[in-house]
Amino acid sequence: MPTSPFPRPARRRPLLARLGLLWLGLLALSLGGHAQTPKPMIEYALAPQAPNSHLITVTIRYAPPEPVKRIDFALPAWRPGRYQIQNYARNVRDFTASDQAGQPLRWEKTDKSTWRVERGAAKEVRASYAYYANALDAGSTLWNDEELYWNGTNLLMYVVGQKALPARLSLALPSDWKCAYPLKKVGSPFLYEAPDYDTLADAPGIASPTLDIARVEHAGTTYHLAFQGPVSVPLSEVAEQTRRIVAETVTMFGGKAPFSDYWFLYHSIPGGRFHGVEHLNSTSITFPSNVFEERPQRFYSLTAHEFFHAWNVKRIRPQVLGPFDYSQEVYTRNLWVAEGVTSYYDDLLCRRAGVISVEDYLRALATTIAAQQRTPGRLVTPVTAASFDAWLTPDDSNVRVDFYTKGALVALMLDMDIRRRTDGAKSLDDAMRWLYATYAERGQGYPENGMQLAVEAVAGASYAEFFAQYVDGTAELPYGEYLAAAGLELVESRSPKQPKASLGVELAGDEKQTVIANVFPNEAGFEAGLDRGDILVAIDGEQANTATVPELLRKRQPGEVVKVLAFRRGKLREMSVTLQKETRADFQVRPVSSPSAAQSRIYQAWIGQLPTRS
Ligand SMILES: [Zn+2]
Repeated sequence: MPTSPFPRPARRRPLLARLGLLWLGLLALSLGGHAQTPKPMIEYALAPQAPNSHLITVTIRYAPPEPVKRIDFALPAWRPGRYQIQNYARNVRDFTASDQAGQPLRWEKTDKSTWRVERGAAKEVRASYAYYANALDAGSTLWNDEELYWNGTNLLMYVVGQKALPARLSLALPSDWKCAYPLKKVGSPFLYEAPDYDTLADAPGIASPTLDIARVEHAGTTYHLAFQGPVSVPLSEVAEQTRRIVAETVTMFGGKAPFSDYWFLYHSIPGGRFHGVEHLNSTSITFPSNVFEERPQRFYSLTAHEFFHAWNVKRIRPQVLGPFDYSQEVYTRNLWVAEGVTSYYDDLLCRRAGVISVEDYLRALATTIAAQQRTPGRLVTPVTAASFDAWLTPDDSNVRVDFYTKGALVALMLDMDIRRRTDGAKSLDDAMRWLYATYAERGQGYPENGMQLAVEAVAGASYAEFFAQYVDGTAELPYGEYLAAAGLELVESRSPKQPKASLGVELAGDEKQTVIANVFPNEAGFEAGLDRGDILVAIDGEQANTATVPELLRKRQPGEVVKVLAFRRGKLREMSVTLQKETRADFQVRPVSSPSAAQSRIYQAWIGQLPTRS
């Protein structure tokens, strides 16, 4: 008897009975899974191999009604949500093609991601391959001795020219495994259906014997929260907090969600990182297992972020983001809207939902402002250009701009400005609803200037100047002017320990070896000739490393000249640096001491609570 590829389920039945049933089940799936279907349909079957091979056998069956000579099977080169080429075809091996009787068909690869099968006289074409699945993040595919986790874009090939056909997917897994998968279930134990390839590819799934699932209802929609991995608080508590976020978001978009079911697929990973990917009716999220002890708001903020995406980017989308061309880069200048506006609303909706406090919300906002102000690229690259070039990562970190961060701050400024102009009658919420009603509900993507059109429509004023300066341009964002609408002020907050003088460089490494990681353009270190990669040795004859430099700088004033010793390509160099004023600061966003009635009204509508100043 072959070894079962499956780990033991939580509740064990006698081994022989279990294996017997399992293999009978697999046999039935491989032989009989092909139901008589009235319309053409593409059928996918996933059958995991030995867990420590991390291989999943994917079989695709397609009976073309047309007399076509050849059929191209292609794997996406990227996945929606990550605007970088991934080349999932790198994980494919053992490709074969056959007809309905299992007779081999000739095939060849025509590019890195496309397999062309000669159909000959075959009624049905079957393509089969093994996919290496050994990565765990919010957009990956994993098969090991604990679970099967997949993202359709990674491993499900589409039939070129036939993405509109409905698809079925079956999983060859023990019937007592639990499965979290947003597609419609049409057969047992694991047979699912999608109306087309895009929907199939846009649905991640987790199957395991240990999945925990909680459910909550809101406004006629069932929300499924599936957890793989340890969760240190009761699921009912997480479900209740999530329900509040869901309610706040759904209310913002008119009170009724555009789906009857929505799935949150969570992986709790010891030592893991926060990562989320949005989908049509679901999201896949990873988080570090200690999140509920350390910083639960980060969990809820990410949950809110991905849920907001169900509107902003999955439905309110730039024209090129659906239907997707998976074969190559698609370009839009609006990732700052897709990601930045979503980042603005994730914390804000958590605040309005009462999941995070006003103090925590304002602190997070100040942190975002500080991050933006520490980015040298803010003065070089417009956020629309950063969106367009998301597919590239510039080698020079001094030109990079994070469209999540800057996009969120532009959204904040727009929100404040609309509220001020309309005396609180309208807000950015109205602009998002306008985009939803004008484009998304008609099944259309918005044009490249869609956000400006939306803001102008709700505010009744031109935003040409605003967009020229802050969106298509690189002018410094004047946060204070905009925060004033809600009676808020931005103040620099320096710890007394922070040096007043600066070298104008970024250090990396440790006390043993400290390297200059970045030299900020036109700042003190740059003017003195310091370079990235210089190994720092001494400042004014004293040992200089990550631990000592802050102390050495604390003793000095801006304008003083220091002698910096550093190794560069094996040779010791001495450079004189005229210290500059430390410009990188932390910030605090706080209510002004006596806000006007208009400011208080805007503040309350915006943040969900009356202003208080501590
Ligand atoms: Zn996002």
